[in-house]
Amino acid sequence: MVNKKLNWSGFARKTPAERAAYLKEHKLLSDDSQQLLADEELLSLSRADQITENVIGRLALPFSIAPDFLINHQVYQVPFVTEEPSVVAAASFAAQIIKRSGGFTARIHSRQMVGQLAIYDVTDKEKAQEAILAQKSHLLSLANQAYPSIVKRGGGACDLSVEAKDDLILVYLTVDTKEAMGANIINTMTEALASPLEELSRGRTLLAVLSNYAVKSLVTAECQIKLRFLSRNKEQAQVFARKIALASQLAQADVYRASTHNKGIFNGIDAVVLATGNDWRAIEAGAHAYACKDGQYRGLSTWTYDSDENSLKGQLTLPMPIATKGGSIGLNPSVRLAHDLLGEPSAKELAQIIASVGLAQNFAALKALTSTGIQAGHMKLQAKSLALSAGAKEGEVAAVVSQLIETKPMNLEKAKAILSDLRQQNAHSSQK
Ligand code: NDP
Repeated sequence: MVNKKLNWSGFARKTPAERAAYLKEHKLLSDDSQQLLADEELLSLSRADQITENVIGRLALPFSIAPDFLINHQVYQVPFVTEEPSVVAAASFAAQIIKRSGGFTARIHSRQMVGQLAIYDVTDKEKAQEAILAQKSHLLSLANQAYPSIVKRGGGACDLSVEAKDDLILVYLTVDTKEAMGANIINTMTEALASPLEELSRGRTLLAVLSNYAVKSLVTAECQIKLRFLSRNKEQAQVFARKIALASQLAQADVYRASTHNKGIFNGIDAVVLATGNDWRAIEAGAHAYACKDGQYRGLSTWTYDSDENSLKGQLTLPMPIATKGGSIGLNPSVRLAHDLLGEPSAKELAQIIASVGLAQNFAALKALTSTGIQAGHMKLQAKSLALSAGAKEGEVAAVVSQLIETKPMNLEKAKAILSDLRQQNAHSSQK
């Protein structure tokens, strides 16, 4: 992660070994990570067995790079872990255009996590709330005593609030979890508060746990794309910008579109969340809940066409309780490699990178949808997937792909037929 200019053109056509050599040449990884790249078995079975339960194997996924994301004047080479063809190519394409337009501006609103305790069988809810609030500082210090190491790291429980909802009293504990996502930290703290809160409320604890609705960990990424990068033809560029803005409005108004709009954002976000060893279920749960914050599920990003400035403005805000420490982050070698590639960012920096990636991915999808259609860019990669599914070996894939692209519509049956013909031809010519 250095700001020197690199030439990534042709990177996609290199072999994995050539790509590794490129990273080495430009010192994009530490020596340890560079060595790891050569290791076919990054996560050993015994290490996998230590990470989780009932392990019988490992599931490997492709680990790629989406190069040259310019975010807050810093260039990042972003690790992507995804099995979906065309996601990395689309993100790289968008990153390049946005870099040439000045890059992303990203900011963190705040970075705290919230734990929630629900108390039932409270006879006087008003009195219970008063009693709890009167002991707020005592309760905060009990929470901090339950997890002293986070306090030593400069974090810890910092606020507590209470409300009555239906038959329950709900207590919210706000915690600065520093570089961790904080699930275990907060679960430990909230469980430690259960008994004191039962005494104060004269009720019983229903549950005490982290909330994944991480609205105190919001991040915003923005970009302003110059219209000339949408098309060389000025009028056509304006049409594209208008169509992207309209598609964005549709994602605000209609849930069928909003869901797909957000899926496109998560094509990028999940790939980086996964690469950096984070809990993608937590990120997804928080973001989809945030997408419904006003009662209707909406697109998380918005795009507006600014005809005065001749640009397309994109904005994405979402909860991003991402971690650089804790969970399995330090345990999985590929994950360590991803953090190294990014230059060991802090959790706040990583959240800004991920939001920018989500916005880039969203732009690429909208640009394709409103111009050539989504399938044009997918064709070659889809053909490659079909060739592989049909059983094509490394030396056969290119030939199957080129014939398959000519056939419309492409499907597995056709891929198998092409492969079979190809093998017959090869057998025939080798007999000559
Ligand atoms: P951990 O339980 O791993 O706690 C964080 C760890 O990181 C601690 O061991 C801490 O050390 C260490 N650490 C080192 N440096 C720092 C630093 N600068 N800031 C903060 N911590 C530091 O992780 P979390 O509490 O974040 O929990 C995340 C895990 O919980 C994930 O694996 C997630 O899947 C899982 N989970 C998620 C739930 C949810 O989302 N609802 C529910 C339950 C589990 P020390 O102890 O010395 O401070």
